[in-house]
Amino acid sequence: MRSWEHRGKLWPVVWGWLWVFLVAVAAPQARATPTIQKIGPHLYAYISDNDGSSNSTFLVRADGVLVVDTGLDAQEGEKLLAAIRRISPAPVRYIVNTHYHPDHQGANGVVGPNAVVISTVFTREATLRLMTQMEKRGSQAGGQKFAFRPATLTFDKKITVHLDDEPVEIYATGPGHTMGDAVVYFPEEKSVATGDLFMNRSCPAMDKGSVKNWIHTLAWMLTLSAEHYVPGHFELGTRADVERFHAYLATLWEQVDAAYRAGVPIGEMGSHLRLSDYSDFRQFPRYQATFVDNAKHVYREIEAAKAGSGGRR
Ligand SMILES: [Zn+2]
Repeated sequence: MRSWEHRGKLWPVVWGWLWVFLVAVAAPQARATPTIQKIGPHLYAYISDNDGSSNSTFLVRADGVLVVDTGLDAQEGEKLLAAIRRISPAPVRYIVNTHYHPDHQGANGVVGPNAVVISTVFTREATLRLMTQMEKRGSQAGGQKFAFRPATLTFDKKITVHLDDEPVEIYATGPGHTMGDAVVYFPEEKSVATGDLFMNRSCPAMDKGSVKNWIHTLAWMLTLSAEHYVPGHFELGTRADVERFHAYLATLWEQVDAAYRAGVPIGEMGSHLRLSDYSDFRQFPRYQATFVDNAKHVYREIEAAKAGSGGRR
């Protein structure tokens, strides 16, 4: 994962991710069953049974189903589709992908072979590059079958889908977990599908993006009239969980900024963190998702911004 250091280039980062996913999927895991929770009059949260494949959110109306994120591969997609079919026989008409990472969209072709696939422009372009690279490298490794379907409908700022007259608001929130994340708001269900911009009680993995804008995006999510927040991974979140995750990133930013101003080198950031309020947060060295990994990411972002405006102070 040294390639993570090359912040200026997308491809090393993508390959870092891909490596993580292949390892995650190849690793033996306790196979539980996914949890399906009804969180609104017509909305369901699908909480994945493993951390190598994302959570999903699906809206079921008579006319059809809208799914946010589909999981890692064909096998995960079949599990999600079976869960949807236990609730409704209606066709999957729309898929929304929150970002380009394979664990969120590698099952599009299984879950919705005929669905309109919606994403930001960045996510579509990154997906096409990812597919090309995987084809060149012949990366259908370990019998794993990816079923990518890049977006057939892209948007810049906001797009609203009306399913049986129920509005689903999809927002491009700018750089955050990646350079082009999307957040889905279901106003009539009082729920938000956050993608990896929110991880319940966990340090997030950070691709090339912006932690600064990520913190703004979380604050904006909290202005929405919502009770349930479906995270990209792990258990369903409440408003209080999102507030806490927002506070973690904001606190981390403050501490790293203070250390940076005091001239602390990046390699010593770990000993300057005071994050005992968040000691219950999961940390994943293999996903480069620990307090220190997150701190280094923030440090580099501050450094890049300061370099752009003429120095450390
Ligand atoms: Zn992700």
